[in-house]
Amino acid sequence: LQKEMSKAEKLHTIGELAASIAHEIRNPLTVVKGFLQLMKKEEKGTHLQYLTLVLSELDRAEVIISDYLNFAKPRLEKIETIKLGDFISGIITLIQSLAVTKGVILEDKVNENPSIVTDKDQLKQAMVNFIKNAIEATPQGGAVSVNLKRINNFVYIVISDTGKGMTNEQLTRIGTIFYTTKEKGTGLGTAVSIRIIETMNGKVTYESELNVGTRVTIQLPIVEEGKLNSF
Ligand code: ADP
Ligand code: MG
Repeated sequence: LQKEMSKAEKLHTIGELAASIAHEIRNPLTVVKGFLQLMKKEEKGTHLQYLTLVLSELDRAEVIISDYLNFAKPRLEKIETIKLGDFISGIITLIQSLAVTKGVILEDKVNENPSIVTDKDQLKQAMVNFIKNAIEATPQGGAVSVNLKRINNFVYIVISDTGKGMTNEQLTRIGTIFYTTKEKGTGLGTAVSIRIIETMNGKVTYESELNVGTRVTIQLPIVEEGKLNSF
């Protein structure tokens, strides 16, 4: 007896497999990280810089695993009501140190605070990816700004940068998994983030001009609490 799997079934199985591998690998990594952090606390000698490096590479591995996991299986789990303006400002504060290190001005232009119902961990992962990309594309002295608008039943989060921009050809490739122009890039960030936003019934639009900058607009519906099923 033979069974031919449909493409949809195959993709589903691959997704399940990737998700379970990512999940299983994360647990031992968490343990390793915990012990390394303990060692780092007690270390005063030459091993301190090794431990710092190992921990930062471990963080990188964690991000890559979450990105894969989310791409394979974007799931909205903890759905709750958040104040979107405060939430976005919190994320900007979190990434501020990266901007400072790169000599880029990261401006919080958020001055509205609508309530939305969402999975905030997922939304955070997407926002961090978009803002990080904007910072990474921007040369020293440039600026990245984030603002927020509510129009009718939608919110629009806009991330603008004065970075290197993209050609039309590059613009058509954005969001394709594994597409990267960076030496240490994974090409997962935008693909995963766009998927997360789409799972939320949202939409991501890129506008870009080479050597001028890029604007990413994230449109999200304002879902009423009683209508959560639409996720
Ligand atoms: P990675 O950051 O690992 O390269 P991403 O999926 O996050 O992967 O991004 C893919 C590519 O899209 C980047 O390598 C870059 O070339 C391009 N890109 C994304 N955001 C921007 C931006 N704001 N400005 C210019 N290029 C961008
Ligand atoms: Mg990226």
